[in-house]
Amino acid sequence: MRLRVLGCSGAEFPGHSPSAFLIDDSLLLDAGTVGAVLSEDEQWRIDDILVTHSHLDHIRGIPLLADNIVVSRLSRTVQVRGTTEVLAALGTHLMNGVIWPDFTRIPTPEAPVLRYQPIPVDKSFAVGDYEVLASPVNHPVPAVGYRVSRGGTSLLYTGDTGPTERIWELAGELAALIVEVSFPSDMAEIALLTGHLTPMLLGKELAKLPKLPPRILITHLKPQYYDRIEAELAALRLPGVELLRGGNVYDL
Ligand SMILES: [Zn+2]
Ligand SMILES: [Zn+2]
Repeated sequence: MRLRVLGCSGAEFPGHSPSAFLIDDSLLLDAGTVGAVLSEDEQWRIDDILVTHSHLDHIRGIPLLADNIVVSRLSRTVQVRGTTEVLAALGTHLMNGVIWPDFTRIPTPEAPVLRYQPIPVDKSFAVGDYEVLASPVNHPVPAVGYRVSRGGTSLLYTGDTGPTERIWELAGELAALIVEVSFPSDMAEIALLTGHLTPMLLGKELAKLPKLPPRILITHLKPQYYDRIEAELAALRLPGVELLRGGNVYDL
C-alpha cells in the first residue's frame, strides 16, 4: 500500500493543512485537505472516503471535491463511508442545502456525485480490494479509527482520540500506525477535555499494544506547539516514531 499524506495538522496555517491520507490514489482516510493539494486527475481518482468523525477539519474537503466533479461534468460517484452518526451529521449540518448543496442528489438523485454508505463498527467490511475495520475511539463526538488491510499489510489510523482501549485490542500486526498527538504534555488537561493525546499520554496508549509497529506516524499536532511536541516525543525514545509532514509518501 502506498500512503500519501495530504494533510496532517491539527489546525490550518501556511504549510500546515488538516487531516487527509490517500491510500493507493483511490481511498481517502479523512478529507480535511483534498483540492488544495491534489490535481484534477488525482481528485477524480478518489473512489471512497472513510470518515473518522464529523469535525470540520476532517470533512471539509468533501463538499468542495463534490463541487469540482460536478462542475467538470464528470459522471463519477464517490462513496462517503462512515458511521450512521457521522453520515447523518454530514447531511444535516453540512450538505443540507443551506451551508452547501446536498450532493447526494446532484446532478441527479439516481446518479449522484456522492453516496453515503454506512459502515459497521467492530466488524470488518470490504472496500474494493481492502479489508477495513472501524473501531470506536474516545472523542467528544462519535468517532472511529480505521484499520485498512490489503495483501497481508495493515495500516491503523486512530483519527482524533483521547486515551482509548478497544482499537488497540483489534490492532493486530501493523505495518504502520498513524496516531494523533495534538498538545504538549503540560496541556494534558485540555487534551483530555477535548479528546486528544499528548506525548506522555501517547506513551501510555502505546503500552497497550502487544507489539509496537515498525512505523509510528504522528499526526494532528497543533503547529503552535510543534517544536515542543517534537522534543517531548524524542525524549520518550520510542523506536519508529516519526512526525508526519504534508506531502510525505510511504510504501508500506
Ligand atoms: Zn475531532
Ligand atoms: Zn481533528
